Amino acid sequence: MTTTQRAHLITGGFPPGSAAGHDMDYARLQLLQKLQAKDHLAVTVANDFQDIERWLLGTDFLITYVAGPYPVGTGNAALSDWLADGGRWFALHGTSGGKAVKSERDGRTVKKMVKAEHHQTLGCFFLNHPPLCEFQVTVTAGHPVTQGLPKKFAAQDELYLIELQDPGASRVLLTTELAQDPSPPGFGFVYDEDTSVQADGKTRVLGYAREVGRGEVVYVGLGHCHTGRTNTQSKVDASIDAMGAVPSEFHGVWETDAFAHLLQNAIAWGTARP
Ligand SMILES: [Zn+2]
Repeated sequence: MTTTQRAHLITGGFPPGSAAGHDMDYARLQLLQKLQAKDHLAVTVANDFQDIERWLLGTDFLITYVAGPYPVGTGNAALSDWLADGGRWFALHGTSGGKAVKSERDGRTVKKMVKAEHHQTLGCFFLNHPPLCEFQVTVTAGHPVTQGLPKKFAAQDELYLIELQDPGASRVLLTTELAQDPSPPGFGFVYDEDTSVQADGKTRVLGYAREVGRGEVVYVGLGHCHTGRTNTQSKVDASIDAMGAVPSEFHGVWETDAFAHLLQNAIAWGTARP
């Protein structure tokens, strides 16, 4: 293929310039290196969704790895229209988050995520994640992004509890099992109802594909990484460290063959056109 395509990569935290608990520089570099392997691809980068309508023009493929930033107003509308027009969006990890507000529960100050219009565009809403732990990921459906992955693979990661916004139109690609959110009081974010658990009382969706008009969004909740400088977590599960100590360097699934394969698949899917 000789036609040049455009990819737009958004990596960053909120407030602007902050890492927001993640090794953003590492994630950006990993994704850029994988994008570079496609020599017909021109890549633009951003730190958040500000002015995204300017960058989506002429973009074929959008990748996002953010902790805090989310599209609003005309930006969110432009993203939604771009998808409907045939855009492909690969959204990772914190893309399902956004704004949190302070609240109070049982006399304790807590944080709670706020559902906004961009969750509809993406197709899911982040509720919470328990402390970093090891879990099994099951590949449940065939899709170009999961092609060639083992049926099951282990992940050391934040196990994202997400609420699907459009379950009927979402093709579930990755799941894990977790009956109860084991988060200790005061850890993470509170929510009113566990809307992430599926009808069987234990399955959690970790990744899905959803067609929007002529386009498609694939979301994968995996991908936590931090360094000592960027870490904001207070404890981890015993499956990561017997004493619960947070590793100062953590790149989790980014260092696994399964995730590398998944990223390569995602880039191939995002830049494939009939
Ligand atoms: Zn994270």
